[in-house]
Order: sequence, then C-alpha cells, then structure tokens
Amino acid sequence: MKQDTTTSPSPTPSTDAVQPAQAQGREDLKAWEASQPANIYLSDAHFKRLVPLYVTGEAVEKLEADLERFGAQVVSAVDPLVRENNLHQNLPRLERYSGIGERVEKIAHHPTYHEAGRYIYGSGVMSAYAEHPNAVGVLSRFYLSSYNGEAGHNCPLACTAGVIRVLQELAPDALREKYLPGFLNRDYDKHLEGAQFLTEVQGGSDVGQNGTRAERQPDGSYRIWGEKWFCSNIDADVFLMSARPDGAQDGTRGLGLFFVPRELDDGTVNNFTIRRLKDKLGTRSMASGECDFRGARAYHMGASEDGFKNMMTLVINTSRLFNAAGCMGLARRAYITARTYAAHRHAFGQPIINYPLVQETLANLKAEVDACTSGTLHLAWLSDRNERGQAGKDEQQFLRMALNLNKVRTAKSGRWACVEGIEILGGNGAIESFSPLPRLLRDAIVFENWEGTHNTLQMQIMRDMQKYGVHEGFFSYLENRLRDCRASDQTQVETVRDIIGKSKKSLASLATLPPGAATLAMRPQMDRLAWIFYAVTRLWERGQQENAAAVDDASVQQFIAHRLLGEVDYSDSAVLSRLRTLLQDI
Ligand SMILES: Cc1cc2nc3c(=O)[nH]c(=O)nc-3n(C[C@H](O)[C@H](O)[C@H](O)COP(=O)(O)OP(=O)(O)OC[C@H]3O[C@@H](n4cnc5c(N)ncnc54)[C@H](O)[C@@H]3O)c2cc1C
Repeated sequence: MKQDTTTSPSPTPSTDAVQPAQAQGREDLKAWEASQPANIYLSDAHFKRLVPLYVTGEAVEKLEADLERFGAQVVSAVDPLVRENNLHQNLPRLERYSGIGERVEKIAHHPTYHEAGRYIYGSGVMSAYAEHPNAVGVLSRFYLSSYNGEAGHNCPLACTAGVIRVLQELAPDALREKYLPGFLNRDYDKHLEGAQFLTEVQGGSDVGQNGTRAERQPDGSYRIWGEKWFCSNIDADVFLMSARPDGAQDGTRGLGLFFVPRELDDGTVNNFTIRRLKDKLGTRSMASGECDFRGARAYHMGASEDGFKNMMTLVINTSRLFNAAGCMGLARRAYITARTYAAHRHAFGQPIINYPLVQETLANLKAEVDACTSGTLHLAWLSDRNERGQAGKDEQQFLRMALNLNKVRTAKSGRWACVEGIEILGGNGAIESFSPLPRLLRDAIVFENWEGTHNTLQMQIMRDMQKYGVHEGFFSYLENRLRDCRASDQTQVETVRDIIGKSKKSLASLATLPPGAATLAMRPQMDRLAWIFYAVTRLWERGQQENAAAVDDASVQQFIAHRLLGEVDYSDSAVLSRLRTLLQDI
C-alpha cells in the first residue's frame, strides 16, 4: 500500500539498525574514494616514462615540474569544480543584452567554471606554444587536464591552439602583435580564447557545401554573411571560420580561412547574433550555439587559394591530436576509477579484483590506454619534428595517415574505456553522483563526432592512399622503428611484422574491389592499422628506454594478444599471472 507522506508511520527499530554487511559495504566505498590518486601525473608510471623520451635537456625539467604541480591540482581543485559546474542548474546561459539593453551576446558561466579555468590555463597548456614547436609540452598538459573529461575548457583549448598556430604561421604582423600575446597568456583573467566554426546546417562532413559568404572590402578585409550551425566555445575572443569569398569556385577549393574578432575596435559586438545554445549530450559546461553572421568584420589568413589546406593542416590536424589526448585522459580516469573500485568492492566474500573476468577487463583497459597514449605522444613528437622541417617523406606520409587513424581509434577507445569502467562499477556506474564516469562517457561520445566522424576520416585515409600512396610511408616508417627494438622483445616484433605483411596484402586487395565494397573492406582494416601503429610504438619506445618494469612487459603482451592477435591462448598458465602483474600499477 502506498503511504500518505503526511501520515507515514515512524520507522520500526529493525529498519533503523545498520546491518554489519551494509556497514562494511559503505566502509568499502569510503576506502575506494580515499584510494584515488592524489597526483595523476606522479601516479601515471607509463606516462612519466614517456615524457623524458620525447623531451630532453632543460625543457624536460620545466615540463615535469609543471606536470607535477598540475597533476595534483587536477585532482584536488579542478575535479570538484568541474563536477559542480556540470550540474544541470549550473550550465552556461545565453545573455543577449546588457543591463541597459545593448546587444552583447555573452555567456554567463557558473563561478566554478572560471575557477577551473584559472588552474587549467595556469598549467601553461597554451603558454607552452611560445616555444613553438611544442606539441609534446602542450598535449602532455592537456592529457592531464582531460582526466576530468572535457571539463568545460578542453574544447576551447583545442580551438585556441588552432588560432595560435594560425597567428604564428599565417597572420600579418599587425594582427599577430595585437592578438598573440593574449592567446599565450597563462593568466586566465587576462588571456584570450579561440573558436572554430566550419559546420553548417546542411552538414559538417561535406565542408565543401559551406554557404557562408565573405564579401571583400576596399581595405582588403572582408565581411562575413551566413549561418553556422555548431559553434563551440561561442564566447571566445576570436573565431576562425570557413567562408566562401564572393566569386570563388565551388567545393573546398573555393573556401577561405577567416579570422573574426568577437568585438570590433569600439567594443561592440562584431555583427553576429547567437540564436540559441545547444542542449548537448556531453561537453555540457562548455557553451555551443548557433550563430548568424551579418557583415562581421573578418581577415583572410594566408593565400586565398590555400584556405582549406591551411584549415586542415594548422587547425583541424591540431584539433585531432588534442582530441586524441583528451580521449586518453578520460580513458585513464575510467581505468583508475574502475581499478580502485575493484580493489575495494566485495562480492561473494572477496574483492572483485580477485575474479579473472574482472582482471581481464581491467588489464585490457590498462594495456590499451598505455598503447594509445604512447601513440598519441609519438605523433605529437613527430609533428614537432615536421614543424622543424626534420621529417622525411616517409615520416610525413606516416604522420598524415596516422593522425587520422589515431583520431578515430582513440575516440572509440575513449568511449569503450568509459563503458568498461561503468561495467566494473555495476549499478553504481550508472549513477551521475557516484562517479564521473557517466559524464565522461557523454563527453567521449561527442569526441567521436567532432573533428571528423569515423566514416569521414576513413574516407580521407582512402583518398590519401589512392592519391599519395600514404600507406607506403606508413608501413615503411613502422618497419624502420621495428629495427630499433629490444632483443628481448623479438618474439613480439616478429608477430607484428607478420601482421604488417597481412595488412599490406589486405590493403592491396582493396584495389580489386568495386569502390563501395572497398569502403566496407577497409573498415576493419582501420582498427588493424591503428593496432599495428600502437604495437610498434610500444615496442620501439621500450627499445629506447633503459629498463622496462614487469608491468610494462605485461602491458605490451596483453595489448598484442587482445587487440593485434584478437585471441588469447587460455591454456597458457602465464595468462593469469600476466593479468595480475599488469594490475599492480594503477
Ligand atoms: C557538441 C558538438 C560541438 C560541436 N562544435 C563544433 C564547432 O565548434 N565547430 C564546428 O565547425 N563544428 C562543430 N561540431 C560539428 C561536428 O564537427 C559535426 O557534427 C561533424 O563534423 C559531423 O557533421 P554532421 O553532424 O553534419 O554530420 P553529417 O556530415 O551529416 O554526417 C552524418 C553521418 O553520415 C556519415 N557520412 C558523411 N559522409 C560520409 C561518407 N562519404 N561516407 C560514409 N559516411 C558518411 C557521417 O560519418 C555521419 O555518421 C560540433 C558537434 C558537436 C556534437
């Protein structure tokens, strides 16, 4: 019978009494909470080993000091702030008008949003671009920041990075001098932020259909007319936009890359209006909206015929690496949350981490996060080499193909890691107030979409293979890395060589298929190519390091068995002990 809330009977003593099992259950949960790492840099043995591999000299000490400080702040300060500003009642709001009725197109954020921003920008994540090229330094900080998912600021960081790169490479001196110092400022209360608006209502993958117009002015500047459908970090100080100069050809070739300040020199809004903010699945504390541009003042960046090329190389490729590091940050959080939970949660008389089924799930998570993090940092290092003009043809081809493969695979792995983590937490995994995993899963789903969907990136890779033969440089680069591995890893090296051989044959056979069938046959190859890339990177980096811990041996073996071979020989008694070894690290 349903109780009338006004006349509910007083509880009987038996329902009040705390049962020993319940008391123990709650103590276990408290112990789990208390066991979260206090510093996510110092507790990340794998990442800590990678940093000095890719950064040397004085720079490594400076970077490590920043990472150590930020690694503690991410946990103690940023995490609670981000949880708070992601609560429904604290999400950003559009404020179109000032108090006296002037159009301002501003976004009101909860105070905790700005507090989190002070720590995040204070880590040096954007100011590190002053030492260009420095993708490794920037993305190392960004990876730590992504422990809290998108955190309201991580999409803005990726967009800001694109603006910085454009200012550094393409902007006229006057614009660079006016804006760059603000973008590189570590002080959140004085810094500038960027945004990137390409997508229109008719579609984001087919950017060549963009209808936004750019009208040239007598002084060489432009005015932008049109609508953009997805505008993230809409309260940024500068927008980079794709638009078609009047008279330019159709398709992507006719697109220009425009620098659009939010405000005009007199402080008024630069002739745009925000229709509304989007009610999003994930990345909710960051404001994304829809915008109408009605003659916004704009400056074309770079040569007019290179608009799309510059957009891809400086803006989108930068964002794709950020996306990958972001996915690994949240995947690592999923692993830590689940690994620590499994150590404290009891079922059938023992901690669930004692069960091989749980161990294998966690071991696969750990091995994959290690592998994808290695791959992402390797690409950051290679893109720095490329910026310095040190990359040869193979390296350039490898980079072009691996950047896109890595975007797709890390995004899938990020979502997968959150789902696996939630599974280990059981019913508690589905509860928003219990752990950050539901929020991280929602962010991860968005990460799969923006900066290019899986299909779009696969199609781009296929075009690049057909047009430039990038797969040849891809394999050649990896085969060269395999020559530089440890003698003790030779069995794994041979396994990977064998799979590279099979993969080459599979790619060659695509040419014999009709185009539609070839796209389907390529889909499973996308994962296999990514797994090869990560396995080679893991084996190569071990060849450059003095000695590898047993945990690292187990991580590589587990990754190769689970992902590259796709099968495990369970009759091998070493399998269970490998799982246990791997889980010694959090
Ligand atoms: C929260 C959020 C924030 C965003 N912020 C921004 C932003 O700030 N700036 C910005 O420019 N964009 C932004 N986007 C947009 C995002 O980049 C696009 O959603 C994405 O590029 C895909 O475009 P679309 O949504 O129009 O999908 P479509 O292009 O319509 O694609 C729909 C489906 O068709 C598939 N498809 C398309 N072409 C092919 C093909 N040739 N072969 C096979 N399959 C194909 C796609 O993979 C996808 O599954 C944001 C998106 C989200 C979710």
